[in-house]
Amino acid sequence: MSTPQMMLIKPRDRYGASLIFSILGLFALMMYILFKLQSSEPAPSHKNSFIVPPVTHKPIYLMTSKPSALLYAKSGHSLEEYTAKIKQFAKLIHTLGYTTKMIPSSELSSLPNDAILFIVDTPAMTQKTKNAVKSFVQNGGNLFFNFTAGYSDENGKYLGSTFVHALTGLSLNKRLGFVTFKDEKGNGSLFVTPKLLSPLSLYLPEGKNLFVVLYDKVPLYDTPATLQPDIMATSFSQATPPVGIDAAKSIRQQEAGMAWHGYYGKGKWVYTAIPSYSFTDNREQEDDFKKLLSGIIAYLAKPVSAKIYPFIDNKGAIFISEDTEYKFTNFERFADLAKEYRFPVTAFIVANLAQKPEHKAMMQRIAQNPYVEFASHSTSHKQIVGKSEAYIINETAGSKKILDKFASSPIQGFRPPREELNDLMRKHLAQSGFTYILGATEEHLYPEFDKKEPNLLIIPRHGTDDFSYLVNLDWDQDQIVRQMIREANFVTALNGIYTLSIHTHLFAYSTNINIMKKFFHYLSQHPEFKIIGGKALYQKVRLAKHLSQKLEQKGKQYIMTVTNDNDTAVNDLYIQLFKNPKAKITSGSVNNKNITVKINNSQSNVFLNTVPAKSTVKIYFTLENMKG
Ligand SMILES: [Zn+2]
Repeated sequence: MSTPQMMLIKPRDRYGASLIFSILGLFALMMYILFKLQSSEPAPSHKNSFIVPPVTHKPIYLMTSKPSALLYAKSGHSLEEYTAKIKQFAKLIHTLGYTTKMIPSSELSSLPNDAILFIVDTPAMTQKTKNAVKSFVQNGGNLFFNFTAGYSDENGKYLGSTFVHALTGLSLNKRLGFVTFKDEKGNGSLFVTPKLLSPLSLYLPEGKNLFVVLYDKVPLYDTPATLQPDIMATSFSQATPPVGIDAAKSIRQQEAGMAWHGYYGKGKWVYTAIPSYSFTDNREQEDDFKKLLSGIIAYLAKPVSAKIYPFIDNKGAIFISEDTEYKFTNFERFADLAKEYRFPVTAFIVANLAQKPEHKAMMQRIAQNPYVEFASHSTSHKQIVGKSEAYIINETAGSKKILDKFASSPIQGFRPPREELNDLMRKHLAQSGFTYILGATEEHLYPEFDKKEPNLLIIPRHGTDDFSYLVNLDWDQDQIVRQMIREANFVTALNGIYTLSIHTHLFAYSTNINIMKKFFHYLSQHPEFKIIGGKALYQKVRLAKHLSQKLEQKGKQYIMTVTNDNDTAVNDLYIQLFKNPKAKITSGSVNNKNITVKINNSQSNVFLNTVPAKSTVKIYFTLENMKG
């Protein structure tokens, strides 16, 4: 095929960038998305702009490509537009404290061996350039590239994902190919979530939902089994891939990858499917995108990076809870199921119902069930927000007083009726000894401590709840179970917490309990899912918050310093290493003979059986074959 299979549509935004490929060899004119940011006013300059010290003082190279500039010009853009984009991205890198250098594609062979090279928005490259890039990485170079890199030759001939594939193993997805992401109003709309246990999310540890500005179709890829995406396209709830794309087709988890990292020979690469303007054009989350780019650069600059597991001994977690309210006696069915499968579950109980004489015997029976943690769903289950302080105290502290009498140890959890929470509620919850709240959908995956009440953990709700399933969606049981499994897999793949929240009068009622039974059965067959109760979750997140690690390098020697600032020991701690898979740890030692350290080369992780309270542990190891 000699006709160019791509075209450009004149952009209506500042930075341009409507580089669009037609799929299936058609000259289909893609609709330019008239998407504008939330506000058309220029955003106010951010005073507390994100900045961390740069991890390298060496320059970051940005490749310029003549064929790409010509391709832009050929497609109705100005010749300068391509260069303007590269300069724009270089400017962004500058704001992070790095220096940059432009390098023409013809001069790649002059790059230092371990340089960092950025190939930004560069669709057209000669085969010679592609080979030069490959051998640069092969020999130890560090590459960032994106979007439609090398999708065409110097004449504009469409070649598909061959260049991306050669370096990464990713292939353009055949089912969906390039996709327009849009919301119900047809506006460009894509949320992405960086995985927590990824070297790229070093400065975005909470699994924030990032809104990506898009004027173009974005390539979807099939991720080979040897790779895992670092960033995935997500829905607003972060529990599934986005819904409502082209032709009402839904994206599968395996197709939702948006960025990856890996090795090619001795060097490493980061590839993302999103265009460069996505890093700058969301002015509301400007700092978050800077954090993302800083993480990418840090990964490329350092030979090895490390990260503590988000849940200490686990990469992801599952939290199952019941709002124990109407049809109160169904509580026992939920409790029995937890016992049968030995899954720790949490019951948010309406205190007034618990103390009814007819429920007393049942409450006492369930209190003996070691798999059920009691927590509060307020005193009366009526609206709390907007009421007097005395009323709020009774609904929060008051409910604890009642429920503590039933529980074997003081309750710690609260779930606000109607998922409504205000400052006054938070204050009295913290004061009366509550430590965690199961809230509504937040914009992050990982539980976070409240900004005003630093001892109160807010657990975001990610899973679809039983009310939505049964009332809004009206799905059949198997359909619901399939969706629950899908969500549990998706959220835990991002190292978040999948929260399944049910009700006594919905999933615990009548034959609906079979949905729970089927889901519990599935979980029991997949021990990689760790089910966790509220108190244990609070404890792990609190411990993780006061743990840190640092990795220093001296030649082949590495020193990992693990600091535990908690006033309790941390047991069974895992730390993930991000290194060349060919590199092996050949010897190691630890500066405390009471600690057992295990290094797993195939999993690339470090295990410590304990880190004593208020202490620092140093682990020394040697990495052989670091460069493949
Ligand atoms: Zn409720």
